[in-house]
Amino acid sequence: MFEKLEHLGIAVKNIAESDKLFKKLLGDTFYKQEEVESEGVKTAFYDGGNTKIELLEATTEGSPIKKFIDKKGEGLHHIAFEVDDIHKRMEELRNDGFRLLNEKPKPGADNKLICFIHPKDTNGILIELCMDKDKELNEEDLKTT
Ligand code: ZN
Repeated sequence: MFEKLEHLGIAVKNIAESDKLFKKLLGDTFYKQEEVESEGVKTAFYDGGNTKIELLEATTEGSPIKKFIDKKGEGLHHIAFEVDDIHKRMEELRNDGFRLLNEKPKPGADNKLICFIHPKDTNGILIELCMDKDKELNEEDLKTT
């Protein structure tokens, strides 16, 4: 169904503080910091070996990460699986009765298109699907030629 575990998303209050912790845990594997304005988050990525670790810090009052931390505190926020064709997978999930949190794939950090499955349909775990944006561009190139 999904290609592989792509990353684990962890909600933190302060990326600069958590960066010290994750460098202790993972060594110097930090490779990218990026803000996703549309989502109200700042992200930092670490190479955790088999999978990546994404730290998420809220940048706005309405950020989903702010709401999450207010309710549950810092901690595991989502798990993300890579898919080859996000449109197809979303369609399949809908047909299987899953509720998706967004109608269409949306831009995420790390050059991805992403979509979330409603955690009420997945044992309380927020699951993200992600696909490299480059794959989308390639497909559209193919369609127009
Ligand atoms: Zn993520």
